[in-house]
This record gives sequence, structure tokens and C-alpha cells, in this order.
Amino acid sequence: MKNKMKAIVKKRPGRGLQIEEVPVPEIGINDVLIKIHKTAICGTDVHIYKWNDWAKKTIHPPIIAGHEFAGSVADMGSNVHDLKIGDIVSGEGHIVCGRCRNCLAGRRHLCKDTSGIGVNRDGCFAEYVSIPITNIWHANPEIPMDILSIFDPFGNAVHSALSFKTLGEDILITGAGPIGLLATAVVKHSGARYIVVTDTNPYRLKLARKMGATITLKTGGKKTLKDVQKELKMKEGFDIGLEMSGSGKALNEMIDNMCHGGRLALLGILPSGLAINWQKVIFNMLTLKGIYGREMYETWYMMESMLQTGLNIKPVITHYFHYTEFKKAFEVMISGKCGKVILNWIDR
Ligand code: NAD
Ligand code: ZN
Repeated sequence: MKNKMKAIVKKRPGRGLQIEEVPVPEIGINDVLIKIHKTAICGTDVHIYKWNDWAKKTIHPPIIAGHEFAGSVADMGSNVHDLKIGDIVSGEGHIVCGRCRNCLAGRRHLCKDTSGIGVNRDGCFAEYVSIPITNIWHANPEIPMDILSIFDPFGNAVHSALSFKTLGEDILITGAGPIGLLATAVVKHSGARYIVVTDTNPYRLKLARKMGATITLKTGGKKTLKDVQKELKMKEGFDIGLEMSGSGKALNEMIDNMCHGGRLALLGILPSGLAINWQKVIFNMLTLKGIYGREMYETWYMMESMLQTGLNIKPVITHYFHYTEFKKAFEVMISGKCGKVILNWIDR
């Protein structure tokens, strides 16, 4: 096997990323080397690309970016016994410590020492990536590679959407970015009655309708969520809210439109000092649940299971590029006129 590979690297602080030739990662006895077929671009990668304040604080160059991928097993350490070369895999990008109270109890998504590929250690925007066997998702080979490459954000959507019972419920999703769009399809599949999706971006609201939204609302206009509730003849407000925009304004609108006893999953990264109407939370007895990443590995199990029972998430993928055209791909992401954007690593 060759010992050099191409990778998309943040070489030094500042805007942009570049293609570099770097060593193929070494594997320890518990690791798996994956040949990358497809990767997807996340908002986090865009932060790293733009070098915003979060990236300046968090990222220590040089580092290979990327954490959403699908590929095949290229090599494995001597402790790995249940994989074959060529097996189709994706992987959980959160690497946990295995030793803290939550890890020991099997609640690995709650690990206090999580480190992320493409953020705290080298990522998957490369011809190969190495991750521990405990992070491998040994996928059903019938799942198309492009779908498998978005299991990370699909998992964010599933983790949020399945935090509460959805069957027969009325659901408000604020933010029709890739994760809000995926969540729309998931709650539709899992039996929601009405699904209302808000965004400021008409391109994405159109996609939301394709993914199964009952009604979409462009926020900031004349029509409000109260009007939408009337249109649907809803009487008491939304049962479930999925906050997927990171906008404080959106969260406050959500709180104003929930039924008593409503349940909210907060995935969008809201500003730390955000003021919300606490009295509504208290007197309306709302439940707020923060969501980070995916449950290991119940979320992964549910993703495959829903795909097998007919969930179609394909419309969320709107663009494909060869990895050498990554700059174009990032520009599309920055424009907001996209769903998920995929980079191909093995064919043009
Ligand atoms: P995204 O930025 O592509 O989508 C956010 C969407 O919200 C955009 O389409 C934007 O137009 C819309 N929006 C902005 N203001 C709004 C408002 N007032 N009302 C309604 N919509 C509004 O992001 P994404 O990749 O879909 O991720 C969604 C959110 O989740 C982001 O905040 C992201 O940082 C966060 N995230 C969290 C986790 C986690 O583990 N908690 C993981 C991944 C992403
Ligand atoms: Zn831990």
C-alpha cells in the first residue's frame, strides 16, 4: 500500500484550506484504516474554512478537516477481528474516553472527554482516515455510499427527532438547514401529524416541502406561526419543537408557539447569553433537552432501520464535487443555496 495520500488540510491559521500530500495515517492495534469513498461538508467545516472565532479558539493547525464520511476497510490492527478488507463502513466522529462514569455505564454520547475527528484530531477529508474499532459503523452494504456519508448529520436529526414520541404529534422545526431537512423526513416517517418548518431561506424551504413538511414559513414576513396554527386548525400549540437554526429569535418564537407540556430538542448552537421567556417555560411546563452528536449506537441503529423501512433522505443531497474542486463546494455551502454537499474521493 502507498504511504502518501492527498488530504484537505488547514495548514496554518487563516481563511481557506488546501490540498497537501501527507503520510497515510498509522494504525494502532485497535484501529481501522478506512479508504474514503465519499465525504460530506458540515457547517463546522465551513467555520474551519472561514476561520471564524470558534475555529480560532478550537482548531490547532496543521490538521486534516472533515468528519462525515463513507468508505471501505483498507487495513486493521491486530485486535480487530470482525471486519474484512473491503467492508463498507462509516464511523462515529466523536471519540470517547471509555473510562468516565458515563462511558463505563454505556452512555458514551455523554462522555465528558469527547474528541472529534477533523476538529481535535485528523479528519476524513483525505484518501484514508484511521479511527478506533469502537467508532466503526459496519454498515448494511445496500445503503448507497452518498447516503452513508451523511450518517453524522442524519444522526443529529434522528437523535433530536426521536428524543420524544412523535406519533400523531404536531411538530415545529426551526431551521431548514441540512439537519432540519433531515429531521423533517424523519418525523414524517415516524408518524407526525403536522410538520411546520421555518427558515429565512426560500431555497431551503422548498427542499423542506420535498422532505415532507406540511407547511413552510419564511420567518420575518407578515405571516406568523400563530397564523399557521390557525390555518391547520391547531388549538393548543405544537407538541414538539426541534430547534435547528441556532437563532435566538427562532427559539423564542418556538417557545411562544408550544402547547402546555411541550417538549423541545435544542440542537442549533444558540448564543451563550441568550435571554428567553423563562416564565413561559415554567408556567407552560416545557421540557428543554440539549442535543449533542448521536447516541452511540442506538441512533445509528435507528438510521439503518428507518432507511430499510422506506425513509428517503436522498433529496437533501443537492451537490456533488470531486475533492479537488473543494473550493467550489465550500462556496456553494457558503451561498446557502444547497442541502448536503458531497465530495467524491475515488471517481470523478
Ligand atoms: P445550517 O446553518 O446549514 O442551518 C441553519 C438554518 O437556520 C439555515 O438554513 C438558516 O437560514 C436558518 N435560520 C437562521 N435564522 C433563522 C430563524 N430566525 N428562523 C428559522 N430559521 C433560521 O446548519 P445545519 O448544518 O443544518 O445545523 C443546524 C444547527 O445545528 C446549526 O446551528 C449547527 O451549528 C448545529 N449543530 C449542532 C450539532 C450538535 O451536536 N448539537 C451538530 C451539528 C450541527
Ligand atoms: Zn468518557
